[in-house]
Amino acid sequence: MAETGQVVTRIAPSPTGFMHIGTARTALFNWLYARGRGGKFLLRIEDTDRERSTPEATDAILTGMTWLGLDWDGEAVSQFERVERHAEIARQLLETGGAYKCFSTQEEIAAFRDAARAEGKSTLFRSPWRDADPATFPDAPYVVRIKAPREGETVIDDQVQGKVTFRNAELDDMILLRSDGTPTYMLAVVVDDVDMGVTHVIRGDDHLANAARQSLIYRAMDWELPVYAHIPLILGPDGKKLSKRHGATGVEEYQKMGYPAAGMRNYLTRLGWSHGDDEFFTDAQARDWFDFNGINKSAARFDFKKLENLCGQHIAAAEDGALLAEILAYLEAIGAEKLADSKKDSLAQGMYCLKERAKTFGELLEKAHFIIGDRPFEPDTKSLKSLDAVSRGILSELTPHLQNASWSRNGLEEAVAGFAEANGLKLGKIAQPLRAALAGRTVTPSVFDMMLVIGREESLARIEDAAGRTDQ
Ligand code: GLU
Repeated sequence: MAETGQVVTRIAPSPTGFMHIGTARTALFNWLYARGRGGKFLLRIEDTDRERSTPEATDAILTGMTWLGLDWDGEAVSQFERVERHAEIARQLLETGGAYKCFSTQEEIAAFRDAARAEGKSTLFRSPWRDADPATFPDAPYVVRIKAPREGETVIDDQVQGKVTFRNAELDDMILLRSDGTPTYMLAVVVDDVDMGVTHVIRGDDHLANAARQSLIYRAMDWELPVYAHIPLILGPDGKKLSKRHGATGVEEYQKMGYPAAGMRNYLTRLGWSHGDDEFFTDAQARDWFDFNGINKSAARFDFKKLENLCGQHIAAAEDGALLAEILAYLEAIGAEKLADSKKDSLAQGMYCLKERAKTFGELLEKAHFIIGDRPFEPDTKSLKSLDAVSRGILSELTPHLQNASWSRNGLEEAVAGFAEANGLKLGKIAQPLRAALAGRTVTPSVFDMMLVIGREESLARIEDAAGRTDQ
């Protein structure tokens, strides 16, 4: 149970087989709001649609949340497991007169609508059973409907949208329990939120009209309304609703694209929320700063460039050990081969020179090819250009100088600089073939960093391999 006055938020995704990036952002806002106030953040799986709600679909949500680092309090709640409780509330409402049994058949409802349409009236169904005498009830299936007020207005005082007014004449007596006894989504959400002690409902603004209808259940049960904050949707760069056309929409796809979770959190927090001009920030700052007044009223546009930029900054700022753990998880997620322990050690050792200027783990690993690859190093087309006969000659002549050097940054720098000077060569003339020999790539850390990370023996062996090439 939550302590009195404690903020309790939740994310309530429907398992659809993947976790939408919009859901992830909603989860993040709820998480930040609660965590910044010593509150609780809960997870409820809205799995009442039995066909779609497979264990795999639920797993996709748990995995997505876990990857993003959005930890929730307690066990994830299954909405489906609570159907009895939902039905109990419907029965209570029947007893108190807040709801009624409606025996109208589908045909009768359709006929009502046709007639209303023909007369140019509202097609909202007005059940003849709303005030019927129970003595007239047939022995037939019925649904339970809420007895919604027909006059006046329902106002949702929303933290983002402001006061939003709905005319009660436009709210129908929605169904709470279907004729097979199963609860509707509207009922389930409210009962679950109340039972879970949710104090703040932060969700997409596509649920704003639902808030008005759900508030009728709160009123009928004499429950306290939560604070509502309906946040604008995420649009694609072209201003249309974010969809597959714009690129990835599933959270796990972003993991597979090699974005660090901290960068994703930073970017998604900024997507539709701002704190002055701050772009790059830590979780701790986001927790401190996050509030409803920073949420933009208009929809945010997804900007991949900005995401990459922030991800690069987070990779550079990350602590080496944590970064390595995240990279290993990334490799697992993309189904790459496991790295040998010795390579993991070298990665850890070389992380300091790999994490600058990498926007994704893929880019970082590309730079780490000199660690991950194995001898003999097959140079790519670009770096092969630095291994012509002259360059190979330079490598051969440089070799004894390196053999005699002390294997430290100073020692290696002095050896290379001394050799360059003695032979009237520019440093680049030596660094390029050396880079090609050590990594077989052109985008790498400095040759000194590489030699220090892989060590004397391995460096000299690779240089010998390259100097001995006979292919051009
Ligand atoms: N299950 C709903 C959805 O995935 C969320 C309901 C809510 O947040 O109240 O859109």
